Amino acid sequence: MKTLFEKKVVKFGGSSLASAEQFIKSANIINAEDARRYVVPSAPGKRFEGDTKVTDLLISCHSKSISGGDWESDFTEIKSRYNDIIKGLGIATDLSGEFLTIEENLKNGTTLDYVASRGEYLNGIVLADYLGYEFIDAAEVIFFDYNGKFDATKTNIVMSERLAGRKNVVIPGFYGSNPDMSIKTFSRGGSDITGAIVARAVMADIYENWTDVSGFLMCDPRIVENPRPIKIITYRELRELSYMGASVLHEDSIFPVKLASIPINIRNTNRPEDAGTLIVTSTDNHKSDELITGIAGKKGFSVIRIEKDMMNQESGFGMRVLKVFADLDINFEHLPSGIDTMCVVVNSADVKGREYDIASSIQKAVNPDHIHIDNNMGLVAVVGRNMAGQPGTAARIFSALAKKNINIRMIDQGSSELNIIIGVDESVFTRAIKAIYKEFYTEQ
Ligand code: ASP
Repeated sequence: MKTLFEKKVVKFGGSSLASAEQFIKSANIINAEDARRYVVPSAPGKRFEGDTKVTDLLISCHSKSISGGDWESDFTEIKSRYNDIIKGLGIATDLSGEFLTIEENLKNGTTLDYVASRGEYLNGIVLADYLGYEFIDAAEVIFFDYNGKFDATKTNIVMSERLAGRKNVVIPGFYGSNPDMSIKTFSRGGSDITGAIVARAVMADIYENWTDVSGFLMCDPRIVENPRPIKIITYRELRELSYMGASVLHEDSIFPVKLASIPINIRNTNRPEDAGTLIVTSTDNHKSDELITGIAGKKGFSVIRIEKDMMNQESGFGMRVLKVFADLDINFEHLPSGIDTMCVVVNSADVKGREYDIASSIQKAVNPDHIHIDNNMGLVAVVGRNMAGQPGTAARIFSALAKKNINIRMIDQGSSELNIIIGVDESVFTRAIKAIYKEFYTEQ
């Protein structure tokens, strides 16, 4: 079928390729559009609640092989996962030689990264055979440097050359190679990154990330029942939401495509008719009047409140306070301040057990009248590009909280007006999120 798009990179997550049945769904999606030319598979994931991902089985094989445990039985399970898929697809792929090589390497003390990467490698071979696509080993086109850092420049040059003129290709996700040609993986969930790297290299029109949910939801469904899906979101909004705890895509997977202004579309393999969430650089071509894009939040913050009369007239005061935190290697999250108070919001984990050090260093640096450290604060971020220049949004949020008798401990709004951050006591954290959601989406 012809579509508006010429080139799509499609990444399929572990649950989309967990069994022959799921492979068939994924292949139907790929075959439905000629543009779906570059395919990035994960390793087979869980088929049902309580099942084990192939990557986890591989990791367990590796640790047992080192400690002298029985890795062979885990490996037998891995082999049967692939053989079941091959049989269910009715193809003649023979992985026995590949299995032997991995077993040999396990006996010879190979690295964890090599073993963990084999889930994607083997799945890539099977998927390429089933689709009739060319298989390209990620180790030949994705590179890390001598410091173990992803080498974006070399990768982009080599991969775009290698893919130029090739029509249909499968490249396994999650790994690449070190300068000595040994295998190195990204962090867990890293196939998302591979998809983004491939999308950039081929300058795809769109990067489709196929998973088992129909995109992102406006808030955590464990807090709000049936939250609305997010249809469209900008990269900046997504960054705000994921920073504030919304678990979305692998963070690093955003950068390669964002850099190249390639949109990402999160889609559901089990419900391909759903449009999913579209992540874009700018919404110029996609108008939406949702005032709020999403609400996310995190617990576990502490506020260090420093008070000093006439603080506003003391030049360098803020700089000296922040230097204390830099010297103690503590990152700060927010800095709400008044005329005679400055508050530094930090992660409680960085403060616990160091309260005395922090207070005495601040005392020495700026000689304040009072220092208070308050723990147990939760931060709620209300994110929305359409909030900018819309009077009354903040008022609606605050009155929704007031109606529920929720006390606001801190407010912070960036001048970009992309988000409003509210600090509340951890004990009312979920109630606060529910109240804000309900204020804007009353059907809840
Ligand atoms: N299979 C790897 C993991 O389980 C990578 C991925 O699925 O993206 O983390």
